[in-house]
Amino acid sequence: MNGIRFLVTAGPTREPIDPVRFISNRSSGKMGYAVASCASARGHAVILVTGPVSIDPPSGVEVVRVETAEQMNAAVRKAFRRCDCLIMAAAVADYRPARPSRHKLKKGSAGLNLDLVRTPDILEGLKPLKAGRIVVGFAVETRDLLENAAGKLRRKGLDMIVANSAEAFDSEDSAVHFITPEGRVETFRRRPKSATALAIIQRVEAEFARRSQKR
Ligand code: C5P
Repeated sequence: MNGIRFLVTAGPTREPIDPVRFISNRSSGKMGYAVASCASARGHAVILVTGPVSIDPPSGVEVVRVETAEQMNAAVRKAFRRCDCLIMAAAVADYRPARPSRHKLKKGSAGLNLDLVRTPDILEGLKPLKAGRIVVGFAVETRDLLENAAGKLRRKGLDMIVANSAEAFDSEDSAVHFITPEGRVETFRRRPKSATALAIIQRVEAEFARRSQKR
């Protein structure tokens, strides 16, 4: 089989409040790193766009380090042209402080309100540029997992979404569902993220081979 050019995102983003503080989330990067590692081990070319995490990147992978959602958006859009498949495992912050302070905020006796504005939705922004590429997203939900994930699959124009409950955050294992636009749902019991990564890569390989045959 021909090698597939993968673009994988991983980890959280950090949205600065001031020079020493930020808004972020509990993403460890483990899922995205497992996907990048598996794709590379199977002989594919991999670009990994990663937010700040405390794990080492897999060897043989081109690593692009970013902090904010804006930076991740720019890095992903730049590499997207050169990929056959995007796997968007990063937990991108949906909001950022509207006006990060240039100086460290001093505490006063009163409370503090932060104005937040939306960050770009990276996947939605790529929809018009998708062409024949395979795009896989993730959804973490604390309720109505399948319904919410299916809504994101449609809205973001994905070929597959991996739905997991919030317990998967910062964990070695995850229990996931794969959902496709035809409404097919595959459910996997809790298992190591490396096993989930392999199943994702195998689905992409099969879809890539199917599309290549049609061409
Ligand atoms: O945050 P949300 O639940 O919408 O994330 C679902 C998918 O969308 C994930 O694959 C995530 O990486 C992606 N996403 C994105 N840009 C954002 C927020 C999320 O591409 N600003």
